[in-house]
Amino acid sequence: MRIDLHTHSTASDGTDTPAQLVRKAAASGLAVVALTDHDTTRGHAEARAALADPASDAAHLTLVPGAELSCRLDGVGLHMLAYLFDPDEPELLAQRELVRDDRVPRAQGMVTRLQDLGVPVTWEQVARIAGNGSVGRPHVAEALMELGVVSSISEAFAPQWIGDGARAYVAKHELDPFDAVRLVKAAGGVTVLAHPGAARRGATVSEATIAALAAAGLDGIEVDHMDHEPATRARLRGLAAELGLLGTGSSDYHGSRKTCLLGEFTTDPEIYGEITRRATGAFPVPGAGGTPAPLTTDG
Ligand code: AMP
Ligand code: ZN
Ligand code: FE
Ligand code: FE
Repeated sequence: MRIDLHTHSTASDGTDTPAQLVRKAAASGLAVVALTDHDTTRGHAEARAALADPASDAAHLTLVPGAELSCRLDGVGLHMLAYLFDPDEPELLAQRELVRDDRVPRAQGMVTRLQDLGVPVTWEQVARIAGNGSVGRPHVAEALMELGVVSSISEAFAPQWIGDGARAYVAKHELDPFDAVRLVKAAGGVTVLAHPGAARRGATVSEATIAALAAAGLDGIEVDHMDHEPATRARLRGLAAELGLLGTGSSDYHGSRKTCLLGEFTTDPEIYGEITRRATGAFPVPGAGGTPAPLTTDG
């Protein structure tokens, strides 16, 4: 049973619609996929609808509704994966919307800074690329690619453009990760700190911070992720064991905006089972075709 607990759709900065994403997930042999768009649950309804069609490829897939919450602590950006929370719980909903909505003036601010640097980018261009998705730097990066200013998305994240602290970087409203853990827990959800060792994206959190988050109720950390070197994965696996955290593995799939494939990294079924047992805010959504027959039957 292959389980991928971190993906993005056009509801944020992925390039597949939620329906396309779940169909591709099923076609690539996944049994479970979590939809974790940045700061929004807007893609869930479309993904659920695709699973509900018995004729769809996605009919044997199980969907884990989630989100990836943007957080910051002492100037370091963190991403908090949140699973199976009640999407209508008012406090978490309000915070999610605050972060998502602030992405718009923030992206407009980056456009202005780029214009000041002589780049002929416009807000209309970025807004067209983002569509209905919660707007983020990968959309701005794509605009820079269209203009021929950079030749790849990752080049746009260099210090001269929109990487952390770069010339045209503008911060957005972000949550305190301790608040995020508390809010998600209060909404019946489970939290997993995303790619805590992704050093090439910028500064990472210390092990002391991860330990403090664990003491505050964090459930797990992402161990297997494309931005983690093998040595980092080994270190994080050890840290998870030491702190009693669940260690997950995920693709962080973004469609064509990133090179990783769906299911490139996966989560152990026992870890997934523990996530579902801890959650009380929502249930995994089985496809209309039911789950495929288990490998063993007892009783
Ligand atoms: P934002 O949430 O708008 O600040 O954008 C952050 C997103 O940009 C992350 O979720 C990644 O998908 C992407 N990203 C961050 N750093 C890089 C990088 N160095 N190269 C490519 N994509 C990146
Ligand atoms: Zn993203
Ligand atoms: Fe992330
Ligand atoms: Fe992500």
